[in-house]
Amino acid sequence: MSGFAGKTVVVTGGAGFVGSHLLEHLAALGARRLVAMDNLVTGTERNVRELSTLWGFAFIHHDVTEPFDLPGPVDFVFNLASPASPIDYAQRPLETLRVGSRGTENALELARRKGAVFLQASTSEVYGDPLEHPQRESYWGHVNPIGPRSVYDESKRYAEALVMAYHRTYGVPTRIARIFNTYGPRMRLDDGRVVPAFIGQALRGDPLTVFGDGTQTRSFCYVSDLVRGLALLAQSDCVDPVNLGNPAELTIREFAEAIRAATGTGGGLVFRPLPADDPKQRRPDITRAQKLLGWTPEVPLEEGLRRTIRWFQNHRTARTA
Ligand code: NAD
Ligand code: UDP
Repeated sequence: MSGFAGKTVVVTGGAGFVGSHLLEHLAALGARRLVAMDNLVTGTERNVRELSTLWGFAFIHHDVTEPFDLPGPVDFVFNLASPASPIDYAQRPLETLRVGSRGTENALELARRKGAVFLQASTSEVYGDPLEHPQRESYWGHVNPIGPRSVYDESKRYAEALVMAYHRTYGVPTRIARIFNTYGPRMRLDDGRVVPAFIGQALRGDPLTVFGDGTQTRSFCYVSDLVRGLALLAQSDCVDPVNLGNPAELTIREFAEAIRAATGTGGGLVFRPLPADDPKQRRPDITRAQKLLGWTPEVPLEEGLRRTIRWFQNHRTARTA
């Protein structure tokens, strides 16, 4: 039986891409009461429409940078609230810093008061433009503290510090997931991230916009693998950060070719300037997750892309309207 059976779980950012998949996974694991808290700044209630038919599910429209409380027991708090795509956080620099700082503290306060396990959604961006490759959790990172990505990177680094301070000061059972690039259904077609951007372009027959020369690398994890890892991490006793990502690394140019092959479209590539501080390489070392959680990604890129593309084919008109 899973550690979530009969439990109450709060997911901040629950109406977002990852949050909504996480909630569905927790429901399947037997959670009794599920609360999605979200101010819908980048998420949408459509993502939790199916969940809302479940008994025990509640959506609370709330900005987590404002204090909050909930009646009754809470067993787990997953803190996912934050703009996550480079375009989204560039458009909301102050909101991004506030949600990582005040928002994380409010969520930690809830966990402290309720005696709940707290899991922070951190990111591979804490490694910045990494000088160590692949990235292990022991690497402290290479972040430009004043560049355009710093509002996200530093808010997530501050959040990690805050989480550890709550653990050391109050004994809150905390977990930190360093999430690497994740993709799947329910990403926003216009969020600027490379997966929806390329899929949208390919389905329209437009050329794919490769930033820079396309030699920068990323490693893409399918969302069902990620949420399985998040649930395992929350149930572990691992306070140290854990990388969650798929180590299969490819250049963005190779990724563009994979999208062209998967969509069967003939449009070419166009090259656009590389955004400032765009990391040149990224691949998780997942030894810790494998050893401590018994977790390894299972969905190959080809299969994950097939599912994602099918979803965009069925939903893109409605979602871009
Ligand atoms: P998303 O934008 O789809 O989801 C984020 C959710 O947080 C949205 O629903 C948004 O409305 C909500 N939110 C933002 N500010 C809020 C606030 N002040 N109060 C309440 N809700 C707020 O992004 P995602 O890809 O689902 O990312 C979820 C989490 O995972 C984020 O914390 C992100 O940093 C982290 N993460 C994601 C990835 C990835 O590849 N998807 C990689 C690394 C880390
Ligand atoms: N990218 C690209 N074309 C796009 C969008 C992104 O070539 O239309 C590149 C981007 O420069 C980066 C990689 O794809 O090198 C991943 O970008 P994304 O925004 O998805 O995530 P992140 O940079 O946060 O890893």
